[in-house]
Parts: sequence; structure tokens; C-alpha cells
Amino acid sequence: MIIRSDGQKHFSVAVIGGGPAGIMAAGQAASPGTKVVIIDKNHNLGRKLLLTGKGRCNITQAEFNDREFIKKLGPNGQFLFSALAAFGPKKVIDFFEQRSLLTKIERGRRVFPVSDKAQDVLETLIRYLRENKVKIMIDSKVLGFEIKAGQIDCVKLKNEKIYADNFILAVGGLAYPGTGSTGDGYVWARKMGHKIIKPFPSLVPARIKEDWVKDLQGLSLKNVALSVWQDNKKQDLKFGEMLFTHFGVSGPIVLDLSKTIGELLAKGEVKIEIDLKPALDFPVLDKRLRRDFIKNSNKNFKNYLPELLPQKLIEPIIKLSGINAGKKLNSITKDERKKLVNLLKGLKFTVGGLLGYKQAIVTGGGVDLKEVDSKTMQSKIVNNLFFAGEILDIDGPTGGYNLQICWSTGYAAGAAAALKG
Ligand SMILES: Cc1cc2nc3c(=O)[nH]c(=O)nc-3n(C[C@H](O)[C@H](O)[C@H](O)COP(=O)(O)OP(=O)(O)OC[C@H]3O[C@@H](n4cnc5c(N)ncnc54)[C@H](O)[C@@H]3O)c2cc1C
Repeated sequence: MIIRSDGQKHFSVAVIGGGPAGIMAAGQAASPGTKVVIIDKNHNLGRKLLLTGKGRCNITQAEFNDREFIKKLGPNGQFLFSALAAFGPKKVIDFFEQRSLLTKIERGRRVFPVSDKAQDVLETLIRYLRENKVKIMIDSKVLGFEIKAGQIDCVKLKNEKIYADNFILAVGGLAYPGTGSTGDGYVWARKMGHKIIKPFPSLVPARIKEDWVKDLQGLSLKNVALSVWQDNKKQDLKFGEMLFTHFGVSGPIVLDLSKTIGELLAKGEVKIEIDLKPALDFPVLDKRLRRDFIKNSNKNFKNYLPELLPQKLIEPIIKLSGINAGKKLNSITKDERKKLVNLLKGLKFTVGGLLGYKQAIVTGGGVDLKEVDSKTMQSKIVNNLFFAGEILDIDGPTGGYNLQICWSTGYAAGAAAALKG
């Protein structure tokens, strides 16, 4: 930092927002000749990062084929090509491993720290900032910008102004506002002439209308298939993990289907169907039940079900099947058995709506990518402004994609802002 004769604090680069995107940008921008400040309104940097992956931080997605990675991000994914080529998942893993944070790859190519602690990821990043002598300003809410001759002159805090040659906006979106992301960046970017694609909560849990769903609270299902239906037509399908909450359903496959659900809800009623036995088709499952019923002919229905289902689903399935709980397996009729197979292959619920920003993992929409250079993240409207992270109109499914967007865009913005005089 240079203190000017008039007392002005002047940096080469000022990064606004100390989440993953801002931290990566600040660390990358800093060098002996480039003085960088990172400013955050919270008392600690990376508050949201600590919540990621249920406190374990799914750092990235080990999809090393950039084309395949980008396919998962939808139509806006193309924007990430250059940034991903410069700092993709492999380089992110190397970045952390070189700083002694060992990583492991889990199901679905999700990359986690071996320690299973998001705190360790954050500490590694803060060490990175310290090593690069980045000035960290916490408890410092940015209130706005001053513009001079079409360029940002300084950021305004409550009691001071911070001047810099270049500014990186990395204040996130609107999701999980309790962590500090309250949409301030959209307001500033719009004021500076940027178009904001209407933000919406993305990767968000769903409310279920059926009252009995409350009895399933806490139930986690692995290896199930979840399909989304409208007007008796299947609209989408995902395999994997989901869970029941006090209001409805959440977990990776629900979050990943939430975009489709949201779009369909705008048109009418939406049903979801859980296939509890996706590996067995209808005839195979029916055959298995028939065999089991012969083998355990004297067992009653209720005592047999734990072989098929988690505890919490037993009572609901008994009710929905209409089969008497005490009925001996050898007296269950063919029609009853078929009904049971139908339930196991398609447990239906009606969606009552999606939750809002408070529970959303990311924000869809944001700064229009047409107005941002995809190699440098530089604004095409304000010459000394750069963007990084969730504030941009790009987001991905669960599995480490969203943090990778932060690392790649943060890296690109930091490198470019440092080079630009
Ligand atoms: C519960 C949860 C779990 C998640 N798990 C994963 C996961 O495992 N893997 C994955 O890839 N993604 C995950 N995500 C998504 C991921 O956390 C986000 O994509 C990522 O944090 C966005 O980073 P960012 O730096 O753009 O913004 P943020 O992390 O939101 O950081 C923005 C920062 O800007 C600061 N700020 C805002 N306004 C101001 C202001 N006016 N003045 C000063 N500072 C300001 C905020 O305090 C905040 O620290 C998860 C999200 C949530 C909510």
C-alpha cells in the first residue's frame, strides 16, 4: 500500500468480498510490486466456505475434461473455457496439495480435503494471502464506489475510502444471506452500467404437500432415482442421494433437479417420484419379492419390510400399499405384490414449492456475461473493474462445480487486474 501525501490509502488492486473467489483473486494478484487489499464486511473471511460440503468443503469436481465440465454448467458454461484452461480442477488440487492440504476424490468425482474440514481449506487460503502480503480488512462494509472519468476511483467504507488502480468485485450473490452475500454487488454493477440477469435461488430444496412427509424427517436415501413429472410425463431424472427434512426434500439430486422443478412449477402441478430400487426393473423386483414371500411364507408383512426398506419408510409403505401389517407373506395376493412393487419403484409426492434464497446453495442469474471478458473477467463497461465468483451469471450443479467457478474466475481476475496498470 502507498500512503499518498494527502493521506489516501492507495493499492494496485482492491478486492471486494472475502469469499473463495475474492481470496483466490487477491492471492493471485499480489506480488512484491503489486499491493493488494481484500475487504470484507464480516469479522472473518470465507464464512460461507466454512459451510460448504456440510463443513467438509467439496473443493472441486475432478472432471479433468474441460468440455465435459462445461457441459454441466448449461448454456453459459462456454464463458468459462479460458478461465478453466488456465486454472482448472487439476491445478486447483495441485494448488492445495502444494500448500500441504491433501485431497481425496469421493463418489461423483467430488474432491474433499483428506481432513474432511472446510476450516483447513480456509486456513490454507488465508495463509496464501499472508504469504503474498495481502492486506486483509475485516468488519469493513463497502457502501459504494466513487467514479471519476468513467473509472472507479475508490470504494467507500463507513469512515474511510480505499483507492486502487483496479477493483475486483467478488461479493457473491443472494444465497444464504446470513453469510454476508446480500446482493450488494448487483446494485453497484447496475449503477455502473452493467446489465444484471434477474437473480433467482438455485440448487434449492423443495417443499412437499403430503403431510406425512414430516414423519420421514432425517431419512437419507442413497442410490435412488428421483424423477420429476408434469401432466403424467417424465420431465427429468437423477440418480444419487437425497434426504427428507421437516418441510420436504433436499440433498444433491433434489438440489440438482430444482431448476427443472422451478421451471415446471411456473406452468402447473409438479410431482416427484422416488425409485427406491433403481437397479432392479419391475419384473426383476417382482420376482425377488415372489421368491422372498415363498422363502419366508410364515413371516408377517411388517416383519419382512426391514429387508427391503429403511425403518422410517416401513409405516408409510404399509399404509400406502393397503396390505395389512400382520398379513402372512404367503397370503399376500398377486395384486397386492404388484402394488408394493409399484410403490418401491415410484413413491410419489406433490411439490408444494421451492425454498428461497435463505436455503439456496447458489444464486442463478447475475452480471451479464456478454459485458465481461471471459479471459480476464474485466468489465467491458468500466475499464478498471473485474468480476469473480457467484456474482457472475454462471452456476453449476452440486459436486464442486460452483467452487471451481470461483477458483477459475478469481484466478483469471486476479492475474489480469495485477497486470493492468
Ligand atoms: C450451505 C452451502 C454449501 C455449499 N457447498 C458447496 C460445496 O461443497 N462445493 C461447491 O462447489 N460449492 C458449494 N456451495 C456454493 C459456494 O459456497 C459458493 O458458490 C461460493 O461460496 C461463492 O463464492 P463467492 O466468493 O463468489 O461469494 P461468497 O462466498 O458469498 O463471498 C462473498 C463475500 O463478500 C462479502 N460481502 C458481501 N457484500 C459486501 C459488502 N457490501 N462489503 C464488504 N464485503 C461484502 C461477504 O461477507 C462474503 O464474505 C455451497 C453453498 C452453500 C450455501
